[in-house]
Amino acid sequence: MTAQIRPDLESIPAYTPGRSNPGAVKLASNETTVPPLPAAAKAIAEAAELAHRYPDNQVTGLRTALAEFLGVGFEHVAVGCGSVALCQELVQITCASPSDEVLFAWRSFEAYPIVTKVGNATAVQVPLTAGQVHDLDALAAAVTERTKLIFVCNPNNPTGTAVGKAELVRFLDAVPSHVLVVLDEAYYEYVRLADHPDGVEIGRTRPNVVVLRTFSKAYGLAGLRVGYAVGDPAVITALLKVHIPFSVNRLAQAAAIASLEARHELLDRTDLLVTERERVRDALVAAGYAVPPSEANFVWLPLGARSAEFGEASASAGVLVRPYGTDGVRVTIGDPHENDLFLSFAGAPEVLARFLG
Ligand SMILES: *Cc1c(COP(=O)(O)O)cnc(C)c1O
Repeated sequence: MTAQIRPDLESIPAYTPGRSNPGAVKLASNETTVPPLPAAAKAIAEAAELAHRYPDNQVTGLRTALAEFLGVGFEHVAVGCGSVALCQELVQITCASPSDEVLFAWRSFEAYPIVTKVGNATAVQVPLTAGQVHDLDALAAAVTERTKLIFVCNPNNPTGTAVGKAELVRFLDAVPSHVLVVLDEAYYEYVRLADHPDGVEIGRTRPNVVVLRTFSKAYGLAGLRVGYAVGDPAVITALLKVHIPFSVNRLAQAAAIASLEARHELLDRTDLLVTERERVRDALVAAGYAVPPSEANFVWLPLGARSAEFGEASASAGVLVRPYGTDGVRVTIGDPHENDLFLSFAGAPEVLARFLG
């Protein structure tokens, strides 16, 4: 006899990690291609010498550094084992029964439906617009008295599209203030919109807004698992209550502090990535792909039913990309030679005939 497991877990889709194949170019997980900065590597090595000691469960050093960097009080910052852990903890602090609803756009970050079900709540999904952008009016209209939490992924993973500040503020004005709105800004550092949506600024006067950012993307520490939430102290205190003890490890805390100190070096690199992003998108659009403008470190090819097949063909050509069901394919921006390899696959006459014909 096997032990009894919650039957509702049967319906949870297993998280699909990006593929990885020895020798192939990996453009499937939105990682950065550059290893940690020397200062971060040194901090990791030093922290490793104390690996026999528990880390600081309050994450005091990193929270202090983040509070200073963001211009907020210490009590406005929580740190998690990646911001995906904070997504789950946000469901845990807002939802208590299956009648509680978590609202988000679809397609969006694939962790949202999973953390919602793990939290025993009900997911309500609102389709993106035809342009693959958040439909904020429809999202606001979908709020009911059962809505406890709304995820707004901006820029949106996997479509790369972003909404501007004015639109976002209008949306927040339309949402009742007892509903917690999570602005997931995992790709914040890559945004170049004129109407720059900065969730931390927008959230200053709105206690029902919490912002998520991460060290996994522009800060290049995906392997160490550290992300953070910025919000009202009441929300942060609740997050600390459901936090798995010591889940932000010593190496992660040290590396994040060092990377934050050296952020100018890391943020300079995002300019190069943005240049590559525009080059890749322009080439794909010129070839006939309907790629929406991206404000993140990836582009989206809405290939519908042909998505999986495109992913297989790309893998055979030595480039791993990420197909999402029958919606499309996400391609991370890598180094120029990696992007070139993808473009030469995607632009080949037989590939164009097969997938755009
Ligand atoms: C990558 C990503 C995250 C978080 O990643 P962590 O590695 O868990 O910090 C959160 N939200 C979105 C939309 C992402 O794409």
